[in-house]
Amino acid sequence: MKKNRGLYIHIPFCTHLCSYCDFSKLLYDKDLVKRYLDELNLELQERKIKDITSIYIGGGTPTSLDEEELEYLLKMIDEFFIEGISYTIEANVENLTPNKIKILKKHGINRISLGVQTFDDNLLKLINRFHSYNDTKRVINEIVENGINDINIDLIYGLPLEDMNLLKKDLDIAMTLPLTHISTYSLMINKNTKMYIDGWKEKDEDEIRKMYDYIVSYLKEHGFNRYEVSNFSKDGYESKHNLIYWHNEEYYGVGLGASGYIDGIRYTNTKSINKYLNHMRNYESEILKEDDICFYDVMLGLRLKEGILENKIINKEKMNELIRRNLLVRCENRIRVNDEYLFILDYILKELL
Ligand code: SF4
Repeated sequence: MKKNRGLYIHIPFCTHLCSYCDFSKLLYDKDLVKRYLDELNLELQERKIKDITSIYIGGGTPTSLDEEELEYLLKMIDEFFIEGISYTIEANVENLTPNKIKILKKHGINRISLGVQTFDDNLLKLINRFHSYNDTKRVINEIVENGINDINIDLIYGLPLEDMNLLKKDLDIAMTLPLTHISTYSLMINKNTKMYIDGWKEKDEDEIRKMYDYIVSYLKEHGFNRYEVSNFSKDGYESKHNLIYWHNEEYYGVGLGASGYIDGIRYTNTKSINKYLNHMRNYESEILKEDDICFYDVMLGLRLKEGILENKIINKEKMNELIRRNLLVRCENRIRVNDEYLFILDYILKELL
């Protein structure tokens, strides 16, 4: 069977900073973008990329690039594109114009992952997002009109001032849109974010749990299956690229701070833009031994509803104990986390690894 192999390309620029964001990102700057794309082009050539089964352009905000920069980026990726593979780009509503959608389509992009976060205009303002519900509706229509039909949205729940009614409203609206995939994340308020400095607090664990359970049952009822802890899709629309990560398969990571896993080596590029632009990109790398590979197989694979092959788990005694406690479930030769306990996956992994 042909192995999957992904290509991840990182675009670190954003046109503004969201008040909850603690990812490393850079404010858009035309001159910096030009130098970055030139360096990215060199890295793409030097990585000797081959046999790709999916491409994913993430950020930051890849669509913060202007039309010319986007063309330049996609042209350099063209040579790795093979007809029929999954090709995703992350996009923000406020900068995905009809012309940019046409450029994406022209270069073979067939899946868009849209940073929606919520449909509530007041909550959007609170988290410093620059789009509105109406903008989201319009952009999704434009995507479909241009022939891209595989659309994910990211939704955040547990936002301050968001109650169960607002959460339900977000989900009700999502169901009116032509979506194939939904990723949901509970809001984390980390130090150094504007929300933290402004004194906002995360909701307590019980409330978050209630919201998560509600999302899971709501989406299931509406034909979106949870195939990973935070990811839901219609049948056949699971993210092929992200499945590569969870199946612990190989992928190239290209760009600032990007990670890759090729030929048994996991590597991470520098997060320093100065070093990256000066061709000093390698930050750390690890040659994996068999035990390490099993560790990653378990840590990543148990996130999936399908679970992992039993023979990947080294600590059988612990595994059996977790099965007795009903936290893990055995199904033929596979082990998976009991649906009810996916919420405490971190605890289960700690016990098992
Ligand atoms: S667009 Fe994404 S990466 Fe950029 S600041 Fe907002 S959350 Fe962070």
